[in-house]
This record gives sequence, C-alpha cells and structure tokens, in this order.
Amino acid sequence: MRINDDRLKNNFEALSQIGATTEGGVHRPTFSPAHLEARAWFRERSESAGLDFQIDNAGNHSAVMLCANSDAPTLLLGSHLDSVPNGGRFDGAIGVLSAFEVLLTIKDEGIKLPFHLEAIDFTDEEGTLHGLLGSEALTGILKSEDLISPRGGREQFLSGLAEAGLTEEGLFSAQRSPISLAGYLEVHIEQGNRLTNAQADIGIVTSIVGINSCTLTFIGRADHAGTTPMDERLDASLGASAFTLAARKLVMRDFPDCVVNVGAMDFEPGAFNIVPAGVDLSLEFRAPDDGTFEHLKISLLALAEAEAHRYGLSLKAKFLGKHEPAPLDPDIQEVFKQAAESLDVKAISLASFAGHDAQSLARVCPAGMIFIPSVGGSSHSPREFTEWDDCVNGANVLLQAALNLVNSYLSIQD
Ligand SMILES: [Zn+2]
Repeated sequence: MRINDDRLKNNFEALSQIGATTEGGVHRPTFSPAHLEARAWFRERSESAGLDFQIDNAGNHSAVMLCANSDAPTLLLGSHLDSVPNGGRFDGAIGVLSAFEVLLTIKDEGIKLPFHLEAIDFTDEEGTLHGLLGSEALTGILKSEDLISPRGGREQFLSGLAEAGLTEEGLFSAQRSPISLAGYLEVHIEQGNRLTNAQADIGIVTSIVGINSCTLTFIGRADHAGTTPMDERLDASLGASAFTLAARKLVMRDFPDCVVNVGAMDFEPGAFNIVPAGVDLSLEFRAPDDGTFEHLKISLLALAEAEAHRYGLSLKAKFLGKHEPAPLDPDIQEVFKQAAESLDVKAISLASFAGHDAQSLARVCPAGMIFIPSVGGSSHSPREFTEWDDCVNGANVLLQAALNLVNSYLSIQD
C-alpha cells in the first residue's frame, strides 16, 4: 500500500501558499493571521475528506479517524503548522501533511483500525510564545511556572492565546491520560546534512537532545574609555568575549556530541566612550543524554566563573528553562526500520539536535520520529528544500510504520 503522491503534493502546494513570502518560504509565527489561516485550511480539508476534526484547549488541531471501540487508545501522527519568522515551507508542515495523508490512505483502503488514529498539528512548536506549547500541554509536562516568563514575553503570550480563543488556565485541561495514547510517530525534515552525507533516504531518530538556555551576566565597572588606564579597567566585555571563545574550545575538545551557542550579547551602558559595566550573554547548549547534559552545564558555569575572575568581574547566571534529553522508543525505531526495509529505502540512525514535539510525547508514550533529507542542510530559512521523492518516501514509511503497529496491536489482542 502506498500514499497518494498527487494528493500529498496538491496539499503541500496549497498549504505553502498560506503565509508565502517573496523569497519562497513561509511566515507563519504562532497565532499570526497566516498561522490561523493554515489551521483553518487543515480543518476544512479534513472535514471535506469526511474525517472528524477536534481542537483541544491548547489549540492543537487534529483530524481524527475513530475506531469501533470507543475505549481504545489513540495512535498520534503529527508535527506543526507554525513556522519561525520567514521560515521554510517544509519544517513541520510536511509532518502534518504526511500524517493527514496516512489517514486519507487508510480511509480510502477501508482498513479497520484497532485504535483511533489522529493527525495532529501541535500549537507553537517553534517557540513564538513558549515552544512545544501544545505537545507539553497534551502530555502534562507544561507547568504554570513555565509560563511566568515565556520566551516570547508574557504580554505576547497572553495576547496570542486570546487571539486564538484560548486561556492560560485552559491549556492545562488539554492534558490526556498516558493510557489513552498508543504512541506517537512524526516525520520531519532533517535540518542538517547527515542523511545526504550518508546517502540515506530516511533517518531514524534515536534521541532528541536536551536544550538549556541561560543568561550569563558579567559585571564590571563603567569608566571613562579614554582616561582609565587599560590595566585598571573592569571591562565586562572581556569576560563575555573570553568565555565565548573558551566555551567553543571546551565543547569541541570534551563534549564532541554536544553543541554550545552564544546568540546575543547586550552591553551596559553600551556606548563608544564608556568601558562596559555589564554584559548579558545569551547562552544555549544541547546534549544527547542526562549525564552529559548535567556535566556540560557544570563545566560551562565553571568556565564562565574562571573567565570572569580572570578579568576582575563578577558573574550571575539566570537559567531560563530547559528541555530534558528525550531517548525515543527502541521498539518504534525497529518499526520504522522494518518499514523502510520493506519499501527498499535506505535508513540510518541518528540523534536530533533540534527540539521537536516527539520529545514531549516520549515522556508519556512510545514515541518515534524519522527525518527526510534537507538539501544543503538549510532550515529555518526560505532556502529550506527537500526533494519531492524524499517527501513521498517519508510519508510512505510513516504509513507502513502505522500499518505495522496496527498489525502488531491486533496480534497482541488475539
Ligand atoms: Zn519543526
């Protein structure tokens, strides 16, 4: 059995028009007019195909095929329809459309399901407001303290929810019982070069890295930039700059499977003729497992302390929230592997360095994810591109994996 290539392509082209940018990408930040339009489009397509449609209190949008047994759990397939500002057409969208296409194919074939099947578009995966908002609400990971200072700012968070007819308190009622979830499968673009380099068609994700972000504040003293001798300055920029270079060296030497990024530096008071009294440095780091994640955090903080000390500065660290590393289900990885083999597409295993909704689901049910190749590794950009054959492969592997789960579920019940 195969998905309907033309139908998937028509849907992809129609969806790509919504929020289309002149550079060839899409601009669909969470709850922007284009994002809401994309969601309305998904609903309209689902209902006109005769599928049920549900929207929960976290705004997650789902096309649903119910099975005869109302007590049965649900197999979720999905991704997200929001984008980063001026993003690409494939990130998230191809996952939702592949999930939708699997439902349509199974409906066409008249297959009797032992569980409910749902193609879900999670709210705010990309973090316009919070990041993984819908999947964390659905799995119960979301805590009220996470929303005190969401990454997009508190005001934008509340006005965004209001725009979509949601409330902060309501988000928590979107939580589903783990027993109600048979599993979660996601197709996503790789957003890197590893599949192309390995000449592979499909990447089976073993784990999604943990991400921690914090603001490091290096504190020195403002002085006249002309009259203060060089060796008497308490220049906060020196600690911040030295730390940035040393952090790169540290990670490359001692943490080869991790990454670190200094994404911003904010100087106080920030003028040509004043020695910087303070620098707020935006630090993010990622690691594939709990032990490495903690070790990396301790090492980076110790390094920041040492560099601050070297230049006579003091240091403050404020952690802004993290996502724990999420190993994905070994049985689901095997299901994907067999699905790829049966379709004669080459699959390799790899970790994901980007965050995805699958990491939320992995905390409460068997979850798995596959990648399809990104040409040139580009993503979060209008240059983002995946060859159409690879999109079709991804949707077919997803279909085959879902069918394999149907069969194994039936054999357990016999
Ligand atoms: Zn994505």
